[in-house]
Amino acid sequence: MRMMSMNMRMLKEWVGDPVFVARIAVTDGMADDAVTKLTDAGHEVNLEPNELNGYDAVVIRSATKMTAEAISAAPSLQVIGRAGVGIDNIDLDAATKAGILVCNTPGSSTQSVVELTIGHLLASTRHIPTADRDLRSGNWTKKSLRGTELSGKRIGFIGFGRIAQGVARIVKEMGMEIHAFDPYLPLHVAEEHNCNLHGEVNDVFGLCTHIAIHCNLTDETHHLVNSDTLAMMPGIGMDGVACGNHLVNCARGGIVDEEAVFNALQTGILTSAALDVFEIEPAVDNPLIMHPNFHGTPHIGAATKEAQARIGEEMATLLIDYFEGRVPRSAINQRELR
Ligand code: NAD
Repeated sequence: MRMMSMNMRMLKEWVGDPVFVARIAVTDGMADDAVTKLTDAGHEVNLEPNELNGYDAVVIRSATKMTAEAISAAPSLQVIGRAGVGIDNIDLDAATKAGILVCNTPGSSTQSVVELTIGHLLASTRHIPTADRDLRSGNWTKKSLRGTELSGKRIGFIGFGRIAQGVARIVKEMGMEIHAFDPYLPLHVAEEHNCNLHGEVNDVFGLCTHIAIHCNLTDETHHLVNSDTLAMMPGIGMDGVACGNHLVNCARGGIVDEEAVFNALQTGILTSAALDVFEIEPAVDNPLIMHPNFHGTPHIGAATKEAQARIGEEMATLLIDYFEGRVPRSAINQRELR
């Protein structure tokens, strides 16, 4: 781990103990209370850094890409704090090689993403975005907007971690049968949620009319949702209702092949698709977003007052812990740095 350049930096007296004054760059915003917590602890926070050179820590969300190049351009960096869950925008190997600790705030946004996913599931099956567009254009399309219930249908989770488990708890209460593909999940966790855990991803697509993506973006999961897997979806619920097939992705862009989703909407293989995350963000010139059976949100899974407050509080605590010599709770590459 990089040594703190104690001799280079003023030491402050803080409740009787010397505290290292860290320079912290925040590139994608941070809750006011979290900034106050850091400055109250004696650290310097810059919310509009021009570059990362000269900073001891950087706090990023999903927009900033900590590539090997960006990391080598910041030689004094000791910590990369990812205010959120996914660390696919950080070159973890390059950070580890440079002796930089990477930490995130894994649980802080779970409930918010759970609720957004439920929103997308309901919006899909009850045609809420289409109904709203029709109303605004003066059309009373009551007859054509017949939806289906979630109750009596099978939902397939790709990835069954914190967020998927939260969604599963709710949709199970609504009468859905829970299926999942997650090769890294201990069986007992699936059992605790009455979840049918499958060893083959194709089995989940073959059984489920509703697919919810909640895995990490990795080489293994890139374009895991594609024309082949979508074509397996049954279109008929376990209650015998022809509900069509529905896809929701509130995890990461790139897990879903967006061209395949567009084609599946065109051919009717998919009845609806709802994405919060896109392969290229901001998703402005993406033909998928103009499809009438698509609806989306601009990567707002964690964009609630509650989640942002929790994320900020957790990140501030992680950084204060680190600079006061304690191991941050969610240090991702701590072992490799030793
Ligand atoms: P988590 O780590 O608790 O769960 C992820 C699950 O994916 C794990 O159980 C893991 O075993 C599984 N997984 C890994 N590789 C897999 C593979 N090849 N196939 C199937 N499953 C696999 O994470 P979480 O907190 O539930 O977050 C899930 C996703 O949601 C992450 O991708 C995260 O980046 C994303 N997320 C998005 C937003 C947003 O704003 N939309 C906010 C927070 C999190």
